[in-house]
Amino acid sequence: MSLPYQSPWVTDEVALFRASVRRFLQEELAPQQPRWRAQHHADLDAWTRAGAVGLLLPDVPAEYGGAGGTFAHEAVVIDELARAGVHFASSIQSIVAHYVLSYGSEAQKRAWLPRLARGELVAAVAMTEPGAGSDLQGLKTTARREGDQYVVDGSKTFITNAFHASLLCLAVKTDPKAAGPKGISLLVFEPRGLPGYRVGQPLEKVGRHAQDTCELFFDDLRVPAASLLGPAEGKGFFQMMDQLPYERLSVAVAAAATAERALEVTTQYVKDRKAFGKPLLEFQNTRMKLAECRTDAQVGRVFLDGCIQRHLAGQLDPVTAAMAKYWLTEREFEIVDECVQLHGGYGYMAEYPIARMWTDCRVERIYAGTNEIMKELIAWSL
Ligand SMILES: Cc1cc2nc3c(=O)[nH]c(=O)nc-3n(C[C@H](O)[C@H](O)[C@H](O)COP(=O)(O)OP(=O)(O)OC[C@H]3O[C@@H](n4cnc5c(N)ncnc54)[C@H](O)[C@@H]3O)c2cc1C
Repeated sequence: MSLPYQSPWVTDEVALFRASVRRFLQEELAPQQPRWRAQHHADLDAWTRAGAVGLLLPDVPAEYGGAGGTFAHEAVVIDELARAGVHFASSIQSIVAHYVLSYGSEAQKRAWLPRLARGELVAAVAMTEPGAGSDLQGLKTTARREGDQYVVDGSKTFITNAFHASLLCLAVKTDPKAAGPKGISLLVFEPRGLPGYRVGQPLEKVGRHAQDTCELFFDDLRVPAASLLGPAEGKGFFQMMDQLPYERLSVAVAAAATAERALEVTTQYVKDRKAFGKPLLEFQNTRMKLAECRTDAQVGRVFLDGCIQRHLAGQLDPVTAAMAKYWLTEREFEIVDECVQLHGGYGYMAEYPIARMWTDCRVERIYAGTNEIMKELIAWSL
């Protein structure tokens, strides 16, 4: 029997918060998942309900309407969402909030952060374009300054939360002639109802059906010049590079939790299911595979805890965040895939949680920067 492992950053207060998040997810959001999967997006009112229980912006200061906690609280929300099998991209809300918190003017913070925390605004971050994903410097969406406005033209794709998004953090070229990253800026604005703004229907994905992913189109869209994030144009690429470690750590948190959930579900399954007159768990192959997976999950958990502690101390560097995102999502997929195998044919049936975990988690090796890009980042540090 191994002793239960407790993450060192989970204080009593964080544990209490975890219990309230778990209750809310089980009672309020988990029952909606089949319907959300069918409609390919969350209900709009889920955002205000989540805001009312303090699930949104848990690590944003209270003076801006957040819960005034730390990344420990954010990590607990991501972890509990993964354990409950609930797809609800509250982490995007936090990511956009941190862009505003880090680079926004006082007026921008006061205008948006409290409404994001209450779920009155739904945030999306739009970087990827049909022709530019990994190579963000190649993005083509432009924002041309005209008087006290920017005129935005172009398109984005694969944007999570775009279906309901009412606050957009948009990467654009403000100076198409500038070399490399220098012409890129971030604009943050409320796009709903603006002429020249269009959201495509949710894209048909192989997994994560409950969470929308859409295209966005900008055709002579006019937004206030005050939408610019930061003191001057040309800072956007550096702002993204600065904030992406937060996003990557969040993905790593989800990956570790999903791997652990897969193991829990599968361990129970192989105890219950019999073949050749005995539980599957009694076959040596089952025992060896689960022992390997459990060890990988535990190694990942301890590494992740170290990363979270470093982040809480303000010391998580981009290379270690890239390692966490890459390593944990690779192990997650291997573990979940092995668990599908141990379920036999039932592992391929959508009604079984393990089958959904398999299709849902695949994308974590791709988004927030592909794992190949993570390895490039790590290699640059050699
Ligand atoms: C479900 C989902 C949700 C998403 N949500 C968002 C969102 O909210 N906002 C947003 O902006 N984007 C989002 N994305 C986009 C995601 O971040 C991109 O898909 C990802 O960054 C990869 O870009 P790409 O798809 O253009 O692939 P490409 O960049 O075309 O890459 C294709 C392949 O080439 C490899 N490759 C590329 N460059 C290199 C290199 N230098 N060295 C080695 N290999 C390389 C990649 O690793 C990959 O394997 C989402 C994607 C999905 C699928």
